[in-house]
Amino acid sequence: MRIVEHMEQHGHEQLAVWTDPSVGLRAFIAIHDTTLGPSLGGVRIWPHPTEDDALLDVLRLSRAMSYKSAVAGLPLGGGKGLIMANPRTDKTEAMFRSFGRFVDSLGGRYIATEDVGATPQDLEWVSLETKHVVGLPTDKGGSGNPATVTGYGLFQAMRAAAKATWGNDSLDGRTVALQGFGNVASSVSVHLLEAGAKLIITDLSEEKRAAARALDGVRVVDDPNAIYDEVCDIFAPCGLGGVLNTGTIPRLQCSVVCGGANNQLADDSSDNQLAERGILYAPDFVANAGGVINVYYELGRTYDREAAMEKTSHIYESMEQVFSIAKAQGITTAEAADHLAEQRIAAGRKAS
Ligand code: NAD
Repeated sequence: MRIVEHMEQHGHEQLAVWTDPSVGLRAFIAIHDTTLGPSLGGVRIWPHPTEDDALLDVLRLSRAMSYKSAVAGLPLGGGKGLIMANPRTDKTEAMFRSFGRFVDSLGGRYIATEDVGATPQDLEWVSLETKHVVGLPTDKGGSGNPATVTGYGLFQAMRAAAKATWGNDSLDGRTVALQGFGNVASSVSVHLLEAGAKLIITDLSEEKRAAARALDGVRVVDDPNAIYDEVCDIFAPCGLGGVLNTGTIPRLQCSVVCGGANNQLADDSSDNQLAERGILYAPDFVANAGGVINVYYELGRTYDREAAMEKTSHIYESMEQVFSIAKAQGITTAEAADHLAEQRIAAGRKAS
């Protein structure tokens, strides 16, 4: 892989590498852009088969964080950490303390938080070596589980999508199909049921489906794969990424796709395929920014939940802006979200 060329092409500032064989650590930190502020993003623990896979992943994810924070209006840049290890078998305190020293060596240009494969315990170990870490448990002065705030932001995104589609942001009587019923989906379901929406829910886990069955106003679909065929107003991917692809898009029976999962579009043409079917796509990184907004309100101060919720409520306006750019420029909503992020970063560059 031609790393420098790739970084120049995608606007990356820095890629840092750290090895510590004594604790089995091979790690990367990618800093995409710090125009708007220090880079912030999760640390992912994943056994990528090759170094190139790991590098591409960390670079791509750091860029996505720049865009997410820029559209959310946060004074943050995008960064990501990656530990090449198996999260089920390889993690130790010594490994995370070494990673903490790696984070600290960057002097605050990268702030770490949780991502796939990491737990609050891992972050606590990182925090023994550096102050540049957020998303710690509430009993350690942190903001705790971000999913309640992410779910609230997703609800605001759905309201904005409803307004753009039906001329009214009420979700009363609308049917929302939730793919996955984990932390984010159960949080958004509380707001949706309160607003009078009807829910169709599935999950890979029978335990999660049973939890959904216990709620009023919910129909549970036992076959997770059947969720794509359900007639609904909003389809909400809240499990894993890559679910909007050539196999699933033709099956969708909804007017809007608006979910909490990261990287929902499987490839570069998935947004066009949705648009061709007349389905409004609410870009994932705009809809699920509540998580990063939440940890931002823990940075350098006592966590302020009220401020985090207030800022998160503005996902509604950010989403409206994305829809109006798409309409005005005749581009897809995914392209419009990228444009909005790029504009904000460029404006920050001029101002500094
Ligand atoms: P979670 O692990 O609590 O829940 C995910 C659920 O989805 C699990 O119960 C899993 O069984 C289910 N699932 C996965 N694939 C599925 C499929 N194909 N069909 C049906 N069910 C499926 O995770 P979470 O914290 O709720 O996060 C959900 C998504 O939102 C992830 O993509 C995550 O990256 C993204 N996200 C989360 C946050 C946050 O604050 N937690 C913030 C931003 C983005």
